[in-house]
Amino acid sequence: MPDTAQQFASDNYAGICPEAWAAMAEANAGHAPAYGDDAWTAKASDAFRTLFDRDCEVFFVFNGTAANSLALASLCQSYHSVICASTAHVETDECGAPEFFSNGSKLLVAPATDGKLSPEAIRAIATQRQDIHFPKPRVVTITQPTETGVVYRPEELAAISATCRELGLVLHMDGSRFSNACAALGCEPADITWRVGVDVLCFGGTKNGMAVGEAILFFNRPQAEDFDYRCKQAGQLASKMRFLSAPWVHMLETGAWRARAAHANACARRLVDGIAGVPELSLMFPTDANGVFLKMAPPLMEALRGRGWRFYTFIGGGARFMFAWDSVPERVDALAADLRAVAEAGRG
Ligand SMILES: *Cc1c(COP(=O)(O)O)cnc(C)c1O
Repeated sequence: MPDTAQQFASDNYAGICPEAWAAMAEANAGHAPAYGDDAWTAKASDAFRTLFDRDCEVFFVFNGTAANSLALASLCQSYHSVICASTAHVETDECGAPEFFSNGSKLLVAPATDGKLSPEAIRAIATQRQDIHFPKPRVVTITQPTETGVVYRPEELAAISATCRELGLVLHMDGSRFSNACAALGCEPADITWRVGVDVLCFGGTKNGMAVGEAILFFNRPQAEDFDYRCKQAGQLASKMRFLSAPWVHMLETGAWRARAAHANACARRLVDGIAGVPELSLMFPTDANGVFLKMAPPLMEALRGRGWRFYTFIGGGARFMFAWDSVPERVDALAADLRAVAEAGRG
């Protein structure tokens, strides 16, 4: 198999979608003011305000680790703590960046089902210690969809945010695949963010089909105070900001943000349908969005790798397959066929 053959190890293997690419080309025509004082950045910020039906503060950074860790740092003092699920990207995949940028705010890890936090788990952690010796809980961070591809329903989010309000906690959402969640639920972005009490959203552009970049939305403007300085200090203020912001204009205005995610979700569903009934393969989590997590015996994984397929096994030991805006249905079918073949061969 040539190296350019599509793999489903990560949605980041995909390239740049046509809408984002066209916007980059348009933004490349001539000069524009630097550091975000350009028309593209103003337009992209307004496009977010329109899409979310909210006069929010909008910032653009290079990646999700920066978006999450700077957002969390801005909501915390160094003596505060952040409640997250044990599977949360901020805990397992950001190399301590949230703690680093917050000067030591501690992550408090809660057990999670399907990667989801629950009001009960949040309450248990937030109320376990009230004394001066323990870092004071200040923020709850949830991932939508979760790292295991499961989507929080609006009513689940409302219940979490009610608990946060009651306990004096701020609610942050890691939405590196936020578009996939909206596509899966068929809802408006506002319905799973500020309308149900989410304070800050990190909206992923990269996995949605952009070259690079995430947007940070503060739905309550005062919470964004001095955030621009924080971005600059962290090396996240792009001097040619228009190339981070222009792709959002096309993605949001054409509806590509949702359509591209819906395609990725459909490919995940296609794989699930393609391997239905194979007893050696079982789903570890519901397939709500663009990821499929398969429990399968190590020899079958070995055999699948032998057929040229790449995939990660870092979450619970299962095989993870992620689909993107450009996933080719026939290639998904080829993966399903190889999965069925290795399962059958394993029966001997
Ligand atoms: C991909 C991802 C991010 C962003 O990661 P970067 O590599 O820093 O862009 C954040 N959260 C989750 C859940 C992710 O899957």
